[in-house]
Amino acid sequence: THFGFSKVPREEKVRRVGEVFHSVAGKYDVMNDLMSLGIHRLWKRYTIEMAAVRSGQRVLDLAGGTGDLASRFSRLAGPKGEVVLCDINASMLNAGRDRLADEGLVENLRYVQGNAERLPFPDAHFDLITIAFGLRNVTDKDAALASMYRVLKPGGKLLVLEFSHPVVPGLGPFYDLYSFKALPLMGRLVANDAESYRYLAESIRMHPDQDTLRGMMESAGFEHCDYFNLTGGIVALHRGYRF
Ligand code: SAM
Repeated sequence: THFGFSKVPREEKVRRVGEVFHSVAGKYDVMNDLMSLGIHRLWKRYTIEMAAVRSGQRVLDLAGGTGDLASRFSRLAGPKGEVVLCDINASMLNAGRDRLADEGLVENLRYVQGNAERLPFPDAHFDLITIAFGLRNVTDKDAALASMYRVLKPGGKLLVLEFSHPVVPGLGPFYDLYSFKALPLMGRLVANDAESYRYLAESIRMHPDQDTLRGMMESAGFEHCDYFNLTGGIVALHRGYRF
């Protein structure tokens, strides 16, 4: 079977995305390392450097999942800071909470189950918002970007880390082969779940390319928007500011 995502109604997409992350939550970290051959760690490290979180800042790690970014941010923001791990999916959020508690991180962390399209936070609250490999899963991306803009302080920064479109000539066909053949196979072997990983490959294809996403961020009100291609554009880190 096939998700055929462009044709499914909205509630159906929301339900399926929920199922995907519910079903992978327990194996999420292992699968991330396996599927990306460990490279997701470099993409996230780059994001953490660009975030440049300082002591006392308020940070929202949106669609934060198991908390790879929140873990670093919590240490950097320190006792006077606040780091919110927000995710729509209770299974992912619980996995994140367990993991961060195991790391001994408790005092400046908050966990909020919420939808990126309607963020449950006051206006102008955060110094920084990150959303890593999350925007792709959101149904109404424009609503989500507008909501992020609303909760960001003037002077605050948004970083969107997401799969994008390869820009290196010749990379495309190998990447297609990898994502449409190898990913579902690994999903089947490791998580006994080829379908979730087929969804992953499909959602990556449908995600807006670098310039389109920059335009969407500008339409939502963000300024000085730019992006950095990582690994030949397989992933891009987008940056924008609220002034
Ligand atoms: N940020 C983490 C990382 O980089 O490892 C997790 C990324 S995971 C691929 C995507 C996450 O987005 C899932 O935990 C999923 O539950 C969450 N998500 C999907 N739709 C969402 C929405 N509308 N609002 C908030 N989170 C959402």
